[in-house]
Amino acid sequence: MQFDVVTAFPGIIEGPLSFSILRRARDAGIVEVRVHDLRDHATDRHHKVDDTPYGGGGGMVLMPGPLFAAVEAIGAAHPVARSRTVLFCPQGTPYSQDVARRLAGWDRLILLCGRYEGVDERVREHLADESISIGDYVLTGGEIPALVLIDSITRLLPGALGDEEAARNDSFADGTFDFPHYTRPAEFRGHKVPDVLLSGDHARIAAWRREKALERTARQRPDLLARRRGDAATEH
Ligand code: SAH
Repeated sequence: MQFDVVTAFPGIIEGPLSFSILRRARDAGIVEVRVHDLRDHATDRHHKVDDTPYGGGGGMVLMPGPLFAAVEAIGAAHPVARSRTVLFCPQGTPYSQDVARRLAGWDRLILLCGRYEGVDERVREHLADESISIGDYVLTGGEIPALVLIDSITRLLPGALGDEEAARNDSFADGTFDFPHYTRPAEFRGHKVPDVLLSGDHARIAAWRREKALERTARQRPDLLARRRGDAATEH
């Protein structure tokens, strides 16, 4: 899977992708991430990528020209048949594990990071295939949302995690949270690991984990369980 990130601040992107699972997935060739400096696609000699809004008001808006030019250059340099262009925007489709799974089905994602007051509307209308929001709050730019997508999608790709079994139990994988995890020591400051986990009885452990996952989903996010029941009902 390939990611092409278009940003006016390339330095923000590289760090988080250089550690742990994401680093290994890149080294193993499971994902390829290319970061493109929007300023390289500016047409004036000052490498200007933003301008004041028509109609007045404060703030700056990313101009359409450099963004269109960047996407066209990516298409020419790295032609990929199944490619999708995503614009980050607080008004976009709410991001979720389901959206991550859907996007993981493309061979390449071009991720457009907004800045300042946002992006010229013609980018949404005529360049992006879809807009995505990572939550109901406003960030200073689309770089962190781009990292959120790359991280969550990479995790879903075969071979990215050491343990595929663990990924199947992850929160949201089947509409419930993950079960609680414990590691050594068996007793920490007087708090003990539940006996069942030390019992070696795999059937009992599995039942306990299912029960705990359901219990905490019901307590914390009953909407997830309701949706899960709804999905099951439509399958029959
Ligand atoms: N004026 C805009 C916010 C601009 S924030 C509005 O109120 O809708 C600047 C940029 O940060 C956006 O263009 C977008 O790319 C990114 N951004 C901010 N919050 C985001 C969020 N919750 N999800 C995705 N992208 C976001």
